[in-house]
Amino acid sequence: MLFPIGINNPYYIHLLETIMIYAILLFGLDIVVGYTGQVSLGHAGLFGIGAYTAGVLVFKLGAPLMVSLLAAVGVTAIFGAILALPALRVTGPYLAMVTLAFGTIIQILINEMSFITEGPMGIKLQKPPLFGHKLDEREFFWLVAVLLVVSLVIVHRVLRSHLGRAFEALRGSPVASDCMGVSVYRYKVYAFVISAGFAGMAGSLYAYSEQYISPNSYNFELTVLFLLAVIMGGRKSRIGSLIGAAIIVLLPKLLDDVVLFRYVSVALAVMVLISAAVAVKRQKATPAAMAIPVVGSIALAGLAFWLDTMTDWRLSIFGVIMLFVVYYLQDGIVGFVRNALNLRRPKPQLDVSVEGASTAEAVSKAAGAGGSDQVLEAAGVLMQFGGLKALNNVDLVVRRGTIHGLIGPNGSGKSTMMNVLTGIYVPTAGSLSFGGRSLVGRTSSDIALSGIARTFQNVQLFGEMTALQNVQVGLHHTFASNFFDVAVHTPRYRRESASAVNRALSLLKFVGLEALAEEEARNLPYGKQRLLEIARALALDPQLLLLDEPAAGLTAPDIKELIAIIRKIRDHGITVILIEHHMDVVMSMCDTVSVLDFGQKIAEGEPAKVQADEKVIEAYLGGQETDAHAQPA
Ligand code: ADP
Ligand code: MG
Repeated sequence: MLFPIGINNPYYIHLLETIMIYAILLFGLDIVVGYTGQVSLGHAGLFGIGAYTAGVLVFKLGAPLMVSLLAAVGVTAIFGAILALPALRVTGPYLAMVTLAFGTIIQILINEMSFITEGPMGIKLQKPPLFGHKLDEREFFWLVAVLLVVSLVIVHRVLRSHLGRAFEALRGSPVASDCMGVSVYRYKVYAFVISAGFAGMAGSLYAYSEQYISPNSYNFELTVLFLLAVIMGGRKSRIGSLIGAAIIVLLPKLLDDVVLFRYVSVALAVMVLISAAVAVKRQKATPAAMAIPVVGSIALAGLAFWLDTMTDWRLSIFGVIMLFVVYYLQDGIVGFVRNALNLRRPKPQLDVSVEGASTAEAVSKAAGAGGSDQVLEAAGVLMQFGGLKALNNVDLVVRRGTIHGLIGPNGSGKSTMMNVLTGIYVPTAGSLSFGGRSLVGRTSSDIALSGIARTFQNVQLFGEMTALQNVQVGLHHTFASNFFDVAVHTPRYRRESASAVNRALSLLKFVGLEALAEEEARNLPYGKQRLLEIARALALDPQLLLLDEPAAGLTAPDIKELIAIIRKIRDHGITVILIEHHMDVVMSMCDTVSVLDFGQKIAEGEPAKVQADEKVIEAYLGGQETDAHAQPA
């Protein structure tokens, strides 16, 4: 903010202003790219929509600043929702293509719809008046700076809230998000809408800042630059967005001036050398891995002194620097510095009063809920994949408050049953009812919210999030706060968020993970990851908990711990369906066991009876017998 007081050169003021405007857009783009993990090449288009909404309103109607700014945010947010629609069906390169097409169409429309946009001629506008006072160059700079800070605070708060966790969760594991009651569908659209809102604000400020808008400004090159800025600066970081914005604005200018370029390249080489030395010394990287960036940056400095003029080399050097950064600093500049200096991500503030919270409170007392003895009733369930009947006419009745075992050889349809129960697959035929309501045709998140929680055979945690955050995603349903509550930290949001932290910590305590609350889920040992999945599932306050091979890959002491935890869960009145291969676990814990073989239920009853059943023995031994037959007699 002090910059325009110290430096009176309008050129530099304008340069910094542009950086700030781009940064506002990048904060929003980072929500989509960094947090939800979607690629958007449509953001230059959204930027253009913001600029033209403001431009046209001012040009045609003489709208005041506040009106044009808010209209730009609103209109662009609506287009963000439109851009999100393909994101619901396609991901990865396909989504990139679709968003690219969106951006291109917007540019063409701006060009062609000259009755509104004045077409290729563009629109000229003046710096806006505010409260009757016409802003000059410097005052407009301050306005942008204030809006930058406001955007920063809002984005930061949103990303630290349950909304931000929902965005991040759907990058980590969409299927787990849905099964935790966080609708992937809804939050993808939400992320695009918020992101577009910031793009719209940036666009309208850009229109005033340049005082001229034309269709060519919002082209493919700009959209790629935005994406590069997020990646180079460092995704999931507001500082990264600021650095990224500075790079894409300053780097092209820097490459115009050979003397300046010499200074900067020498400074860069020194910086790279120092950080490489630090990284090697702290054994964060091998000397061999650091050699190329060091040699590369020294070579760049050498080149700078060898060249007399930049003009012929500008684009090539620009391209090489970009490639270099994207290839070597995959976590961006912020990620690299953090890593080299061994800084960790700032931790969320924990409420210390938590210690008092009893673990018992953490787990719901679902027992009393609903009078019926049966929690779940499945009848004649058929699940067909092409010609394969993964489930064939299966009936299943699960009594409230019991641990119901589901066993069978590999490929017998156990996991398929769980997927059908949680809405991941829609059964080909048959009925499923839970607490008296049918489950068929409902979405996974809807089913989860009605009280069925699950874990996965292949652990589905949100890897980049901490253990605590993983459980907090499970607590998403306890939040009624909306975007505005989060942005201004209303008392309602503060209350909900504090209570979620408390409950998440006591759930972690319940499974014995409280000491690892701040560890990223992907860094936990396998056995702990399975326990974390259970804690996250319990956060849903389920009446029914589905555990898919929770003991797979666990060591003997871990299995013992697991058995104790499952018993405790049952004692809290939560009904459990347990798929397990360890027969001792199944036999010691289950009240009832159902046995599947080739998608059909072949036996059911008390564990001891089932174990002695001839059909069951045959099903399990059958596999081995065939193996035996396969050997030469
Ligand atoms: P398990 O009892 O080992 O958990 P599953 O339920 O995973 O067995 O699988 C049962 C059968 O259904 C297997 O033959 C499997 O290949 C098949 N299957 C499961 N999911 C699908 C799918 N999405 N598409 C096609 N086949 C599937
Ligand atoms: Mg399975």
